Amino acid sequence: MQDLARYIRTVPDFPKAGIQFKDITTLLKDPEAFRRSLDAMKARFQEPVDVIVGIESRGFIFGGALAASYGAGFVPARKQGKLPAEVEQETYELEYGADQLEIHKDAIRPGQKVLIVDDLLATGGTAAATARLVKKLGGDIVGLLFLIELTFLNGREKLKDFRVESIIQYAEE
Ligand code: AMP
Repeated sequence: MQDLARYIRTVPDFPKAGIQFKDITTLLKDPEAFRRSLDAMKARFQEPVDVIVGIESRGFIFGGALAASYGAGFVPARKQGKLPAEVEQETYELEYGADQLEIHKDAIRPGQKVLIVDDLLATGGTAAATARLVKKLGGDIVGLLFLIELTFLNGREKLKDFRVESIIQYAEE
């Protein structure tokens, strides 16, 4: 599956100096590469899933498509202030400062099987905050699924309690 990596464009110094940004728009616009990415992701979790939680914003693209494919519901985990009804909130650390993620309080029923999806696992802070939100609502986390993993950032360390799967790994920047 590493051949899917050739559809991903690395943009240096975006959004700021020193970041090698993995741009997936070049993969998404290719019908075959997008389809194969979704198939590869779905193959990693073959058990039943009730709800896919997608992380804003690129997690919505993969999570939404996967939800339809699993016959699961889709729930967005969003940045602070975007969701209109009552929310649960979690704070997570960024390189400089902190940020908040929110989920609707009624988005998941206790005991529902939840798969958390995003495009990319970096330090794991965002995904770990999302997992805490799902736990607060009583969801049963089946695992976390990413297209891309930057393994040199050790994001899995923050997700030790869960099964974590990724399709394309980068071992260095
Ligand atoms: P983290 O919380 O450090 O695991 O960051 C994960 C979130 O930030 C994901 O939603 C990614 O889409 C985004 N992200 C972090 N680093 C990169 C990168 N190098 N290229 C593209 N997206 C990134």
